[in-house]
Amino acid sequence: MDEFEIIRRYFERDTSDDSVLVGIGDDGALTRAEPGRDLVTVIDTMVAGVHFPHFLDPSDIGYRAVAVNLSDIAAMGATPKWMTLALTLHEAEPVWLQEFAGGLFAAANEHGVVLIGGDTTHGDEAVVTIQITGEVEPGSAMLRSGAVAGDSVYVTGTVGDAAAGLSILQSGAPRNDDIDYLVQRFARPTARVDLGRAIASVASAAIDLSDGLYTDTDKLLSASHVSGIIEVNQIPLSLQLRNTMAPSDALQFALGGGDDYELCFTSAASHETIYEIAEKTGVPVTCIGIVADGAGLTCTEDGATYDYTSAGYRHFR
Ligand code: ADP
Ligand code: MG
Repeated sequence: MDEFEIIRRYFERDTSDDSVLVGIGDDGALTRAEPGRDLVTVIDTMVAGVHFPHFLDPSDIGYRAVAVNLSDIAAMGATPKWMTLALTLHEAEPVWLQEFAGGLFAAANEHGVVLIGGDTTHGDEAVVTIQITGEVEPGSAMLRSGAVAGDSVYVTGTVGDAAAGLSILQSGAPRNDDIDYLVQRFARPTARVDLGRAIASVASAAIDLSDGLYTDTDKLLSASHVSGIIEVNQIPLSLQLRNTMAPSDALQFALGGGDDYELCFTSAASHETIYEIAEKTGVPVTCIGIVADGAGLTCTEDGATYDYTSAGYRHFR
């Protein structure tokens, strides 16, 4: 199967999106932005064996590659519009391609994103690069750099699930419903696109959690030139994670495990305001700490210093 045939069979889909003037098939895609909107561009590469295990289902690989990019779009408070796909494969295996495309379009369709082009090449390992462009009202994009002392720190959903799921998957431990849930959280992350857009006007800063709650919150704080405190007993842990391991291990995954693709954001708005917005989008949001002057991220447990070290957990990469 040559490159042209792969594109035609698996990636060309009928779309009727007014913003796409020319999609797949020409030298470049031609899109039309809404007048006066700012554009947000994100890109992420996933290498087989580095960013996901070789045995991950191809449909999950496709879904996840889109979702991690949507998560960056969500963290900017933008609306995703168009995506391109650079695909490197060792061999063009029809079943693999069919399933991969199924997962990819499932994630894209959830958010009305159109695949407008790409590149298909041959290589030793599967490498999937996706680039997404989104739109945002001028001046309303969320940045990492806007947190101010006195703001509250919030996190969406639950954290630690994806890293725990991956670690159990790799250990070959027997599966049960709780573990299946955790593995699913790694394989098919939920990009918080609607929530990101909804909080953009009240959040002072935001970041998505790809590397872990501790590391990514720390990045947000240093970009904002402020310090912060996370109360570890406030960190939202799923029932499935708590069922699966001791509380201290769950907390270790929550703070140090990446791949959750939840959002961490700061805001000066009242908790009621934030929870009301969250409720409208159906995404649980939890206040886990506060922003202060100075630098660095501290963890507390019921107010006492909690010594967090990431040494206990090794990332898949
Ligand atoms: P060129 O040689 O001009 O770079 P290609 O022959 O590589 O173009 O690609 C032909 C068309 O197919 C282009 O519109 C390109 O964007 C699109 N395309 C190539 N690979 C993919 C892919 N994996 N997914 C979606 N579109 C693709
Ligand atoms: Mg060309």
